Amino acid sequence: MKVLRHPAEARELREENRRSGVRVGLVPTMGYLHEGHNSLLKAARADCDLVVMSLFVNPTQFRAGEDLSTYPRDEQRDFEIAERSGVDVIYTPQPEDVYPAGFASKVEVTGLTEVLDGSESSRGPGHFSGVTTIVSKLFNLFDPDVAYFGQKDAQQATVIRRMTEDLDFRTEVVVLPTVRERDGLAMSSRNAYLSPESRERATAIWAALVETETVYPEAGLEKALEAGRQRLASAGIEPEYFEARYPGTLDPATDDSREPILVAVAAKVDGTRLIDNILIEPSKQTRSTK
Ligand code: AMP
Repeated sequence: MKVLRHPAEARELREENRRSGVRVGLVPTMGYLHEGHNSLLKAARADCDLVVMSLFVNPTQFRAGEDLSTYPRDEQRDFEIAERSGVDVIYTPQPEDVYPAGFASKVEVTGLTEVLDGSESSRGPGHFSGVTTIVSKLFNLFDPDVAYFGQKDAQQATVIRRMTEDLDFRTEVVVLPTVRERDGLAMSSRNAYLSPESRERATAIWAALVETETVYPEAGLEKALEAGRQRLASAGIEPEYFEARYPGTLDPATDDSREPILVAVAAKVDGTRLIDNILIEPSKQTRSTK
């Protein structure tokens, strides 16, 4: 496994790959790897000749006051996991090499980035311009045939698909299902922050999404969302948002939907911000409107 620490080394690799015509798969990560990341790495390994994983805690996608400085990091452990998963190249640059003095560019997707995590009361639209700027840089540096993302970050996946299409990147974007702990909690590097008690309470997030899915066919969307929010409240969790939207446009979902509905949630559990979502297929039968 090769470790690249500087953009210049990545550019060199890109030229080699162009000459040899290998199929390149890219898995962007912020490290502290878990089975969610692993599922992306395994898919890349199965599909591609060369698997590149980036490991970079991207400062521009954090707001002031968020957890940039405390974000869990363990480079050695990540290298070992990546190697076991068949990664060929790790790209782990320093922030000052990614954003050198004078750096002044930004890639921004509008609209989609202003709701849910992008709303001012949440992480703000700057979060996603941080994400799209770094992902564009990675796409340019590695020119991957395929890039792998997780459904766990559903809005991020929608935004990246939009960007890839709008800006004519040739990279195919593949989005893979959320990997969960046995009790349903979505795997996340941030789960490492949770105390045993908080970890227990955090199970209410997935339970609330499942509750919403269960209630929806009979009772309709509003009641289903209410039931989900109630499930969170009974665990003492007040969500930042708990909303139903269409996965492609992120427009608010309506009750007479015949399309899949994304129910997305963000909530702080004892100071740790967690997100999750569920895709609800509309009921096959006509629902009575209650
Ligand atoms: P992160 O390191 O948290 O920025 O995540 C890197 C990639 O892994 C993103 O595409 C995430 O959506 C994806 N990912 C994170 N957690 C999971 C999970 N539990 N299941 C599937 N993919 C995930």
